[in-house]
Amino acid sequence: MARVLVVEDDQFVRSALIRHLTDASHTVRSVGTALEALREVAHVRFDLVILDLGLPDLDGSEALKMLRGITDVPVIVATARDDEREIVRLLNAGADDYLTKPFSVEHLSARMAAVLRRARPVAGDVPPSTVLRVGGLAIDPLRREAELDGVRLDLTRREFDLLAFLAGRPGVVVARKELLAEVWQQSYGDDQTIDVHLSWLRRKLGETAARPRYLHTLRGVGVKLEPPRAERMP
Ligand code: CA
Repeated sequence: MARVLVVEDDQFVRSALIRHLTDASHTVRSVGTALEALREVAHVRFDLVILDLGLPDLDGSEALKMLRGITDVPVIVATARDDEREIVRLLNAGADDYLTKPFSVEHLSARMAAVLRRARPVAGDVPPSTVLRVGGLAIDPLRREAELDGVRLDLTRREFDLLAFLAGRPGVVVARKELLAEVWQQSYGDDQTIDVHLSWLRRKLGETAARPRYLHTLRGVGVKLEPPRAERMP
């Protein structure tokens, strides 16, 4: 059961969403414009926002950025466009996940469950005050802080989760399927989602796929995090 804000200007889609979410025992509020959505999240605490990107008043990714400026509530965006650049833009603007319209209620439920599970980690999931160290990286899962060579990294929630998961098993090649299951908590999905996040994480670590330091992608196998060669212990 979650408090959900539905931001959708299409009356038909909106009613269907409200009916479905209410049937699933969620508490729902709904608005039809981005500005109303901003007003709502400024005054009410939600567990999740479902944001249609085709709103009459503001461009979708602009709305998302403004939303992110006032709250870190999980946001699932619903977009009619399914191209990589658009998805990268949305994830970079702070979306937790996305749905391509038209989507089924089953698909929505699955995405919602995954996002909500992530937002409310089960107590005991994270060992108390264990700082993970890999080379110059220091990751504190409890405080959700990461540093590289003493400089604080500005990571999104998902980037942090990805980094922390890999740092928990340094030098071990993790399959994309496992990342999807453990970090995204989805049993199926596309590699593109992972690749997009890996590329942003890589950029924040100051490296590239062609010249990796910490993050190594093994084509067709998976990903591993390990200290850069020069810094490795003998
Ligand atoms: Ca719309």
